[in-house]
Amino acid sequence: MKDINDEMINKIMEDCPKTTTRLKRNQFLSREKIEKLKEEKFIKLVNYAYNNVPLYKKKYDEAGIKIEEIKTLKDIEKLPILEKEELIEGFPNDTVSKEYNVDDLTIGITGGTTGKTLNIAYSDETMLMRVFTSYRMFDLIADGYNRDDVHTYVYTSKFPLGDCLPDGSFPMHFICTLDGIEKSKEILLKTKPNLLTMYPSRLEDILRELSEEEIKEISKNLKAICVKSEMSTQKQRDEWSKIFNVPVLDEYGSEELCGTVAAQCQHKGYHIWEDLNIIEAVDENGINVPDGELGELLGTNLYNYAMPLIRYRQGDLVSIHPKEVKCECGREFQMIKELKGRKNSTFKLKSGKVLSSGYLLDVGYVQLIKYRNTLKSWVLIQEKIDKVVFECIPGEGLTEEIKANIKKDVEKLLFNEAEVEVRLVKDLPVSARGKRKQIISEI
Ligand SMILES: [Zn+2]
Repeated sequence: MKDINDEMINKIMEDCPKTTTRLKRNQFLSREKIEKLKEEKFIKLVNYAYNNVPLYKKKYDEAGIKIEEIKTLKDIEKLPILEKEELIEGFPNDTVSKEYNVDDLTIGITGGTTGKTLNIAYSDETMLMRVFTSYRMFDLIADGYNRDDVHTYVYTSKFPLGDCLPDGSFPMHFICTLDGIEKSKEILLKTKPNLLTMYPSRLEDILRELSEEEIKEISKNLKAICVKSEMSTQKQRDEWSKIFNVPVLDEYGSEELCGTVAAQCQHKGYHIWEDLNIIEAVDENGINVPDGELGELLGTNLYNYAMPLIRYRQGDLVSIHPKEVKCECGREFQMIKELKGRKNSTFKLKSGKVLSSGYLLDVGYVQLIKYRNTLKSWVLIQEKIDKVVFECIPGEGLTEEIKANIKKDVEKLLFNEAEVEVRLVKDLPVSARGKRKQIISEI
């Protein structure tokens, strides 16, 4: 695992104008040009994956795919679907391209379904693209991102680039989701951000504690709020939008698909970033459903050549508007009509304190990050008002001492209002759709 180093930051500075221009331009391509760009990128990627990634060679040969017959975008439907388990079992030898050395890559982790952690390897180019696409995010939602705009980012871990770029541009303040509400409030009031990003449930947490005066103060410079990583409804976002008097817009992304996949523009059009990803909706037989109908979301990332993902079953449900449905913003990227994902629970403690799913997700994730190799997937279950189980699948070297530390840590994060049991299991509960609920309340 590597972090963004000076060399990469220099590259970002050097590439910045070029890449930003290209990403800006792509947003406003005509439908015809989008199709052409996607097709070129897809054909190149699929050929590359077949020739350099053992998983695809084997998978496609077994399915009788003749790679030279994959010639158009429509041919994507002939390719077999990629499952999470294949990525888990095959990492790194079968899933990472032969052209890359896994030690040179950045590794992201996310929970698997059968209890093993899913590792995703990103090339430097991919990491840079992730940074740039996060800047484009604000083009969509706030009509541009200026180099002096202050971005306050409430999340599990710091944005890879740190506090700003070396020339001081794009300043960013980080608030850890696990920081107390008081501290979060204080930083928000002090930084008066232009842009704010956080889990929707965390926004609700903070909102509960803000007075009208404070909301006014925080909204002073605010241009937009971006919510992500959890499902929220349009109705909720409209309500928050009224309170802060700025657009509150949703972003859909995943570790596997290298960050942002789709995001709302200021007209609430939920645009798929088609220059970077192909999104499909399929039925239970893996057949593509007509536009407008709900199906399982398959994602193909078009730029991470270190570990290509083609027709990856993400585990969420999606329906996509027909191409003819246009958005007022003028972008011709196709739009998501509906998105359905897992809904996590909240915990209510003895004192009446309510812990949101966003907060609880980070309670678990910090343990996963801290004990990377010794801990695999986890689930938090509130069994009684004062009893919470941290169910997890042990990796190698999970000692009694680590178990005791996790117990203590999680209890502290639950404000010592519940006893925590660290329970080791072989498998974790999954929903019918194969996606695991991470936070479960049984009370
Ligand atoms: Zn739009």
